[in-house]
Amino acid sequence: MKPSPPPEEARRTPAWFLRPPLLLAVLVLVALFCTQRCTGKREEDLSRSRIIMGTVVEITVLGKTAGEASAAIDEAFAVMARIEALMTPHDPASDVARLSGALSALEVSAETAEVVALGERVAAASDGAFDMALGRLKELWGVEGEAPRVPTSAEIDAALEGTGVGDLIRDGQTIVKRSPDLAVDLGGIAKGYAVDRAAAVLRRAGVKSAAINAGGDIRLLGDRNGRPWRIGIQHPREDGRLLATLSLGPTAVVTSGDYERYFEVGGVRYHHLFDPATGYPSRRCQSVTVVAESAALADALATAAFVLGPEGGLRLLEKFPGAEVILVAADGSRHVSPGLQGAVTWP
Ligand code: ADP
Ligand code: MG
Repeated sequence: MKPSPPPEEARRTPAWFLRPPLLLAVLVLVALFCTQRCTGKREEDLSRSRIIMGTVVEITVLGKTAGEASAAIDEAFAVMARIEALMTPHDPASDVARLSGALSALEVSAETAEVVALGERVAAASDGAFDMALGRLKELWGVEGEAPRVPTSAEIDAALEGTGVGDLIRDGQTIVKRSPDLAVDLGGIAKGYAVDRAAAVLRRAGVKSAAINAGGDIRLLGDRNGRPWRIGIQHPREDGRLLATLSLGPTAVVTSGDYERYFEVGGVRYHHLFDPATGYPSRRCQSVTVVAESAALADALATAAFVLGPEGGLRLLEKFPGAEVILVAADGSRHVSPGLQGAVTWP
C-alpha cells in the first residue's frame, strides 16, 4: 500500500524547524552553554602543573568552574613555593640553611617547627632510622648533584658526627643542634608537608575533590566523581610498569624508592635514602609506599621504613594507627600491611 501523503502543514515544515517555545528553549540552552564556556562558569576537571621543590607538582581540581579551580590552584602552588623557600638548603635565607649555619639556638618559622616536631616523632619511633640532620652526609655523597661519588669511610664518619636521635632539640619554634657542625636536611619530609598545606588551601577555597601529586607524594581530597581514587604505584625495577594499583578515599599516599635518584659504581646502586647507622644508602628495600592521614607523615614514614627494611618497616608502621604500607624488599618480595590488603590490585 502506498503511504498517504503528509498533511499540508507538515509538508511545509522543514525537518529542522522547531515550534517557537521549543526553539526558544534550545536557544537559551545554547546561549547558557556558550556563556559558561566563555566565562569559565561550567564545572569541569582542571589540572595544572608547576615545578616546585625540584619536582613536577600536578594539581587536579574536580567539580569547580575553571575560574574557581584556577584561582585555588594558584594559591596552592603559592603556599608550596613558600614552604620550599623555608626548607630548601640552597637559599641562605631559608630556615634550613640558617639552622645548618647556626652555632646556637635559632628561632624558625611555625611551619619549619611543625615539620621538625613531626620528624622528631618518626625519628624516635624508628630508633633514629629517620634523621633530619643528615645534611653533611647528603652533601658528601652528592647523589642529587653533578658529581656523585662513593666517599671514604673516614669522610662518612666525620659527616655522621653528632647525628642520632635527639640531634635537633626543639622548644616551640626554637631549635638547637646538639653539635654546631650538624647540617639540617628536611628532604625526607618537607615535600609531603608542602602537599598537605596545598590541600588545606584547596579545602579552604571550597574544593571538595582534588588530587595533588608532587612527584609521588600524593594527597587526595574527596572522591573521583563518586568513586574511589585509583593510584598506580610505579614498579621499582620495570620502567613504565605498575607494581600495583590502590583504590583510595581521601588520604595521602607517598612512595620512596631507590630507582629515581641514584648512580652506579661497579654494579652497585647508590641512592639517596641513607641508613644513619652506616652512612651508606640502605640496601634493604627497592620501594616503600605509605598511606596515611597526612602526606608529611606518609613521607617521613616511607623514608624511615625504606631504611629499616621489611621487618623493621612493618613494625614502625604498627606504631602509627591508620598508616599502612606496601614495601618491596631488596629481593623483590612484597609486604603489605593488613589494613591495605583490600585496597590493592596487582596487575
Ligand atoms: P623524594 O621523594 O625526593 O625521593 P624521599 O621522601 O624518598 O624523597 O626522601 C629522600 C630524601 O630524604 C633524601 O634526598 C634526603 O634529603 C632525605 N633522607 C635520606 N635519608 C634520610 C634518613 N635516613 N632520614 C631522613 N631523611 C633522609
Ligand atoms: Mg620521605
